[in-house]
Amino acid sequence: MPELPEVEVTRRTFAERIAGATIEAIRLGKPLRWPLGIAAQALVGRTVLGVRRRGKYLLVDLDEGVLLLHLGMSGSLRFRDAFPAAGAHDHFDLATTRGVLRLNDPRRFGAVVYAPAEDSAPAVKLLGRLGVEPFSDEFDLDTFHARLRRRQAAIKHVLLAGDVVVGVGNIYASEALFLAGIRPTLRASGISRPRAERLRQAVRQVLARAVERGGSTLRDFSNAHGEVGLFQLEAMVYDRAGQPCHVCGTPVRSIRQGQRATYYCPGCQKA
Ligand SMILES: [Zn+2]
Repeated sequence: MPELPEVEVTRRTFAERIAGATIEAIRLGKPLRWPLGIAAQALVGRTVLGVRRRGKYLLVDLDEGVLLLHLGMSGSLRFRDAFPAAGAHDHFDLATTRGVLRLNDPRRFGAVVYAPAEDSAPAVKLLGRLGVEPFSDEFDLDTFHARLRRRQAAIKHVLLAGDVVVGVGNIYASEALFLAGIRPTLRASGISRPRAERLRQAVRQVLARAVERGGSTLRDFSNAHGEVGLFQLEAMVYDRAGQPCHVCGTPVRSIRQGQRATYYCPGCQKA
């Protein structure tokens, strides 16, 4: 599943090239998770101002309105001068004067949704409950620690929930907690201020490295799954159950938390 780093890498592959383009045509394939929300024809002639990311959504800003793109479970976006005829899993083409943006999504949990503005109902419905961006100034220690103090759930759950900070998927949660030396089962409310700061830094570090790896190894986002594999190769604990910790040699342990696998080192993450 594409996580925040893959979505950010995707954004960087086409954001600059598509900025300033005029929409010439839109082709819709099979229905995606949600309908477009506007007649495709109504978008023809509008200009793309730029592409931002919010959580796992890409926001394609138009001179009037915004397109929200989500990659779902299996989606990938490519931007090229032209494409061959659409294949069975190509469900959205945005043809512009600078090239064509194509969404391929075999499982069709992805979506392209139009909203008249970022604060209009269709956008708020999708973006309204997202936590702060991990690389933004809003992800500061005071706010982060205050929000953790209010939560009785295990810290791993709180990270995954995405309403405190977005983008910390299952792999990244295990890795960040390892770097911060925090046991994934610890109640969020029990995390001290210095440890919250270590965790904040660790979240940023893990996500930044994943973006960097994606950026340096990915020319074409159709290789997204290979990129995740590459990141996993250098994982400290994720998917390493029973293997010695790279830091202290203690065997890495695997537990289930809310149906998801969690990995941690009992030596480095004592509490
Ligand atoms: Zn260890």
